[in-house]
Amino acid sequence: MTLSIYDTLSRQVQPVTSISGVTTMYCCGPTVYRDAHVGNLRTFVLSDLIRRAIELAGGKVVLIQNITDVGHMSEDISNQDKLLLQAEVEKKDPFEIARMYETRFHQDLAELNVKTADQYPRASQSIELMIAMINKLIVQGFAYVGSDGSVYFDSKSFPSYGLISGNRLDSLKPGHRYEYSDEGGKRFHADWALWKLAGARTQMIWESPWGAGFPGWHIECSAMSMELLNNYVDVHVGGIDLRFPHHENERAQSNAAIGLETVGLWVHGEHLLFEGRKMSKSSGNVVLLSDVAAQGIDPLSIRLNFLENRFRSQMDLTWSSLKNADAQLSKWRRKMDSWGDSLSPKFDQEFLEAIENDLDTPRALQRLRIVEKSLRIADVDKRAIFIFADEFLALNLSTSQKKFEISEQQRSLLEARMQARNEKRWSESDSLRNELEATGLIIKDSAAGQEWSWR
Ligand code: AMP
Ligand code: ZN
Repeated sequence: MTLSIYDTLSRQVQPVTSISGVTTMYCCGPTVYRDAHVGNLRTFVLSDLIRRAIELAGGKVVLIQNITDVGHMSEDISNQDKLLLQAEVEKKDPFEIARMYETRFHQDLAELNVKTADQYPRASQSIELMIAMINKLIVQGFAYVGSDGSVYFDSKSFPSYGLISGNRLDSLKPGHRYEYSDEGGKRFHADWALWKLAGARTQMIWESPWGAGFPGWHIECSAMSMELLNNYVDVHVGGIDLRFPHHENERAQSNAAIGLETVGLWVHGEHLLFEGRKMSKSSGNVVLLSDVAAQGIDPLSIRLNFLENRFRSQMDLTWSSLKNADAQLSKWRRKMDSWGDSLSPKFDQEFLEAIENDLDTPRALQRLRIVEKSLRIADVDKRAIFIFADEFLALNLSTSQKKFEISEQQRSLLEARMQARNEKRWSESDSLRNELEATGLIIKDSAAGQEWSWR
């Protein structure tokens, strides 16, 4: 059995294959100028689910996820590097910002039980690779030095441009908002920058054959994925917004440089809304994993909420769905305790079939609910099937509930302390912290609020 999954390019559900016996995967991002929000995390968990689905069926995966720490320009009119903008706001060195948010990204992934990638190459440390690829593209006639000295990809030199997104060159109108609005030196409006000359910019710039400057965001992923995955990516993952222009441009660059189709399947996860609204900083509607933990909700409730939706459907995360998921996790862990303590998994065909069918996670969860309630399946087998399923779900179902559950008294102390903090009653908040810590919890305060964990 193998996983089949929807491929954006062919617009069909296709089996995941691998040439070498090891499936190569590449997942885009994060851009480390801020904390990942729960929407970003949905996309990163999608890549983990694909990986775990392949591994559950006995396959092997090598996964690369890049860290974008330079070259991703802001979509507003300032058209500045997101890292440099944030460095200005926080009055810090841009690399300090990048490393701080990179560390937090790894912490978030660990809390959601996302298995670590084989490598997390940083764009800023892969500049040589990008320069080599840009050179190759120029020599092969796919790129040119523009009238402003920056290097551009010649979109017309790549005839199948537009296959992923449907945005073919003849339908892309001049004036369409491209990522770099100040690309004055290009020959055709749909071309894009591979290397930008520094101009007035003084930070995050490198020497190159074309002068000091910095790479375009799209060339970063082409250079890193081709180098680290031996010129072929079986499954390429990102959020739906990356379909165009990021992945369209990435495909053009990689295919042009290598001379072959370089990606087997393009998988795009739909976006996550929060309480019915798009998450955006400007509207104050951004939720982080730490916000969820601060409410005393197990972070894995987020993962369970993701699993309750098909990855190709937009989903709405709400506080009430998170609380329900939290209760569901506690219930399942309690049941697991009541079904014994064996740790051996039992293969379940129906569960695997559901996830291998374009990651039908709602049906897989439905299968578990049937197993849970079945009068014909012995408790020991129920537990074993759940253990098998949890190799994919990664919801810590077999860890004893006692480790996770907080008592009613602890919950109300946490609430009282949050209230005291909000109202700046600091000494009361300190004594509540002491009370909570005496019950075995560790309390941490961050910019996002109060967080707790078990000692
Ligand atoms: P970034 O940190 O901007 O590089 O984005 C990291 C990943 O998150 C990309 O794959 C985006 O497509 C994805 N993404 C951004 N917003 C959302 C959202 N609301 N829901 C799901 N994925 C998202
Ligand atoms: Zn990318």
